[in-house]
Amino acid sequence: MKSQKILISSCLLGNNVKYDGTHNSVIENLFIEKLIKLDMLIAICPEVDGGLPTPRPKAEIFNKKVINIEKIDVTKQFLSGAKKTCEIAKKNSVKIAILKSKSPSCGKDFIYDGSFTKTLINGDGIAVEALKKIGIQIFSEKELDQVEKLIFK
Ligand code: SF4
Repeated sequence: MKSQKILISSCLLGNNVKYDGTHNSVIENLFIEKLIKLDMLIAICPEVDGGLPTPRPKAEIFNKKVINIEKIDVTKQFLSGAKKTCEIAKKNSVKIAILKSKSPSCGKDFIYDGSFTKTLINGDGIAVEALKKIGIQIFSEKELDQVEKLIFK
């Protein structure tokens, strides 16, 4: 099991790819540190891979489309990024992904409702939806204990 590769949101590794040009680093977490040392992580950022710049206007999903705060439809870029993420997963025989919660790309189970009022609703980000369809098991950065049990059981 230890040789397997795991996808991880690039912003969780401290890379400044978040819409506002910052990150959501969890690299101080001991389990993540271990995965880095074992060279098990593959960093992905579906929004950047889909051709969007950093920084970029904040975007949320509304009516199955991704619309940014400037009211521009960026669904195409999000879908392209999700497709590239799936290609990376398949190429590396990935089974598990650790993805940033609440993101319109990487969020699992909960996403913002499209009103830009920080209102969460049930749903998955665009990349998560695509990864689930190809059988990837998704965990958020808040579920690292579960990933650790799964990998090092
Ligand atoms: Fe992080 Fe995913 Fe957003 Fe990229 S798309 S900044 S990896 S949450």
